[in-house]
Amino acid sequence: MDGKISPPNTAALFDVHTHHPEKTTIGAKHSFVASGFSHESNEEVIAYSRKTGCLFSYGLGPQEIQREDRYPDLEKAIGAIEKQVENAMADAALRNRLVAIGEVGLDKHWGKTTAERERQFLALERMITLAGRHSLPLIIHSRDAESECIRQLLAAQALHASGGPRPSAVAHASGLRIIMHCFGGKLEEAKLAANAGWLISIPPQANSERKRIIKALPIESLVVESDAPYIGKTSEDTMKSAEMIARYKEMELEDVLKKTAENARKIFRF
Ligand SMILES: [Zn+2]
Repeated sequence: MDGKISPPNTAALFDVHTHHPEKTTIGAKHSFVASGFSHESNEEVIAYSRKTGCLFSYGLGPQEIQREDRYPDLEKAIGAIEKQVENAMADAALRNRLVAIGEVGLDKHWGKTTAERERQFLALERMITLAGRHSLPLIIHSRDAESECIRQLLAAQALHASGGPRPSAVAHASGLRIIMHCFGGKLEEAKLAANAGWLISIPPQANSERKRIIKALPIESLVVESDAPYIGKTSEDTMKSAEMIARYKEMELEDVLKKTAENARKIFRF
């Protein structure tokens, strides 16, 4: 993954997930979604979006919400993010910048106990409802819990399709729009997600299963991300994800950038 990166002249990079926007130059050639994962980081991304006009998402990550010491009252913690989203939606300057709910999801790497996993599950359930209510896509974190996540999301999607039994809760939207962020699951799981119409997001980190996934899935199912500063150092490192796709799929880098940006704009309706 080393080597010099020279961005093509005409195509733009679209990083669907970063936590490190302040290290990034926003321009015509670079779009990104600054993602929150806690009450504090949600406030940070909104402040940054007010300053720069960047896209952002509100989240409540599983590794956060599982913590009873930080969020003793689960209902209150979920209520607070619901309120944050409502406020942003009522603000003309922010409404079009809030493009997703995320990151949210399940994490069995950090969530070891039944109680922690139960909190993650309940929070995800509510975040799916929140996304449905505002017709926003979900940015899903699924570390070591890919199959559980897919199962929960497929069940929610089936509920959407049937229109019940909680029409006022989740069935508002025409369907769930989902990005499996930094997907680390197996090819079979990636196929399940792609067949459900969801997008698989590729971070700038190579491994053999990711290579299989990139080779097997159509480019229409892929987007790219930095997950900076955790995987990429900055949002610009998303270019390494695009280069990886170009190499494994034997495509021109420019076409990868165009297609992944198109996929991102479509799901974010931006
Ligand atoms: Zn992340």
